[in-house]
Amino acid sequence: MHAEAIFTGTEMLLGQITNTNAAFLGEQLAAAGISLYRQVVVGDNLERIKQAINNARKEADIIIVSGGLGPTEDDLSREALAEALNLRLVEHPEALENVKRYFKSRDLLMTSNNLKQALVPEGAKILNNPVGTACGIFLEHDNKRYILLPGPPHEFKLMVTEQVLPLLQLHNNKKEIILSRILKMTNIGESAVEKTVKDLLHGQNPTVAPLSKPGQVILRITARANSPEKAKEMITPLEKEIRQRLKDFIFGTDDDTLEGIVGKLLAEKNLTLATAESCTGGLVANRITNISGSSSYFLGGMITYSNEAKINLLGVDPYILKAKGAVSPDVAEAMATGIRNVMGADIGIGITGIAGPGGGSPQKPVGLVYIGLDYKGKLFVKKNLFAGQREIIKWQSSQNALYLLWKNLNKS
Ligand code: ATP
Ligand code: MG
Repeated sequence: MHAEAIFTGTEMLLGQITNTNAAFLGEQLAAAGISLYRQVVVGDNLERIKQAINNARKEADIIIVSGGLGPTEDDLSREALAEALNLRLVEHPEALENVKRYFKSRDLLMTSNNLKQALVPEGAKILNNPVGTACGIFLEHDNKRYILLPGPPHEFKLMVTEQVLPLLQLHNNKKEIILSRILKMTNIGESAVEKTVKDLLHGQNPTVAPLSKPGQVILRITARANSPEKAKEMITPLEKEIRQRLKDFIFGTDDDTLEGIVGKLLAEKNLTLATAESCTGGLVANRITNISGSSSYFLGGMITYSNEAKINLLGVDPYILKAKGAVSPDVAEAMATGIRNVMGADIGIGITGIAGPGGGSPQKPVGLVYIGLDYKGKLFVKKNLFAGQREIIKWQSSQNALYLLWKNLNKS
């Protein structure tokens, strides 16, 4: 049993949006043991969507279409499927009820074009959409399965995990599942990770594959087996081995984020945090506060961009600023201590650096960032030299600040 996916949306062809649904679907199908042979992107054009469906059904058993289920004229997926298979579009009572209910519960006015969202090719079932107006469509026809899903990523993702995967698992007679375990690392480069686990990268089942993005390296362990328990059994010893080799860098697994893990540790240890940021412009505070419940450990942050702000708000000594410059280990430390004192926190973080592209010099190049940590009066400072554009340097700085904090939280 294998699948093909068709993503509709002219915006994707124009490069205006990234096809995030594709990455998500690929990952989810792989984890469910369903092979995805091809992904196609087409614009919002009836003929071309129809053609894509006709091409896909020549080979694939499962055809998944993303997007184009909305009420407007450029939403054409249901029409394309009906025409491709020579079926009529009929009103589905449950789909109609869903659309009506959605509008009523939100006190919104329903227009006549919304009625289009209740149409399905004859013989199709609907897939409930708890977060939007357009239901998904499921059709079995000539031994093929067609699944149409709404395009907005939060709707698409929810429907893939809650409806499509269980549905396909039910029909999957191979009964083989693919399970992955993701180990997330920071403060180490991809090549260093690869070197450390080189001997483990050539296995067939389970496999180990590295993947990297700025400030983070991932190792994905994947096993194929006939039950999740068996797959887990295959993954566990490998995970243990990798953890032993890279324990200083592995901060989490699967859906973990560094800010989430740090938050959990702060809460567990009953410690409070405050941040003073210059070149990151509040990014660390933003990431920390993205975690629900962060108010129990995050007291506050300041963006102290100018020297005056560093002096007046944090109490950084003007002589240090003059003698060492704003981007210096001394100032990073003084910022960390300053914010810790001002906020009355257990831990203070101070970040100062040059995010570029301007402002660098041979002595202090773009990408030079100092991160200071005042951990209950104990001072740490780390010098970093990041490469890349302004936003990447800011991101890496935030990642390293959180890493420095994580490391110290683990020690104490
Ligand atoms: P709507 O009722 O919102 O029109 P729809 O099912 O018709 O839903 P589309 O019109 O295709 O879906 O897409 C709606 C929006 O969802 C797009 O403007 C785009 O921002 C986003 N979107 C659609 N497809 C994708 C995709 N493959 N990856 C990421 N975002 C997508
Ligand atoms: Mg639409």
